[in-house]
Amino acid sequence: MQPLAFSADPPSQPDEVLSEGQIITVDGRRFTVRVSGRRKRLGLTVERDGSLTLRAPEGCSAERAESFARGSRRWIEGKVRLQEQHRPRNMVRRFAEGEIFRYLGRDHRLSLVDAPAAPVRMLAGELVLDRTTAADTTAGRRALLDWYCRVGLRWAGGRTQPWAGRMGVPEPAVEVRDIGRRWGVYRPLADSAPGRVALHWAVFQFPPPLIDYVIAHELAHIKVSGHGTDYWRLLRRAIPEASDLKAELDEMGKYVWLGDTES
Ligand SMILES: [Zn+2]
Repeated sequence: MQPLAFSADPPSQPDEVLSEGQIITVDGRRFTVRVSGRRKRLGLTVERDGSLTLRAPEGCSAERAESFARGSRRWIEGKVRLQEQHRPRNMVRRFAEGEIFRYLGRDHRLSLVDAPAAPVRMLAGELVLDRTTAADTTAGRRALLDWYCRVGLRWAGGRTQPWAGRMGVPEPAVEVRDIGRRWGVYRPLADSAPGRVALHWAVFQFPPPLIDYVIAHELAHIKVSGHGTDYWRLLRRAIPEASDLKAELDEMGKYVWLGDTES
């Protein structure tokens, strides 16, 4: 009899068949088992949070799964390492030399200089921040957010008219600011003027196709409120891949920097 007192997951019995939701441990790694009748082969997934899922066909023995997991050790290690490199770094930011900030889907390194008159600038691909401003987290954050609002408004200004023309809606006024948990919001005016679109400053960290999606999404609301069939028909006419972009935005949105700072 093996001493199993410290193991939550005793080794499988030779004839044990995997069951849905079961946890198996191989070489110190825990795998959550997902059984599918449609599968023929075993498969592994490294989830976003680093947890491991082992996908197995029905009737697969625990022994076979364990040997598969053991044989995939290299693959898992590579995946985990890759995921750590790409781990969302953008949830919390410091205003320190070398910190990465995103603009239009690209990474820009932060460089600290003495420039109190122009606290934030984009210079040769680097985001340049005044050193004294950076030293005060509140001031640094305000300067950065102001910069996103400013450059974002300029960028969006060049896109709104073409999109409005394409969608056959009057061009609204656009503003960029912090609008909380939404990427964009459209407010009609009482006198049937085109109204006002507000975009979240954080949107300008996304790649341009996603920003275009946010803009077009709000412009479509000039014609149709709500997200019913008519709304999507209008939006898809302008952006056929709207559903894919929405899914991408939902995913990226979970990890984008929203102004949180590390003190
Ligand atoms: Zn909407």
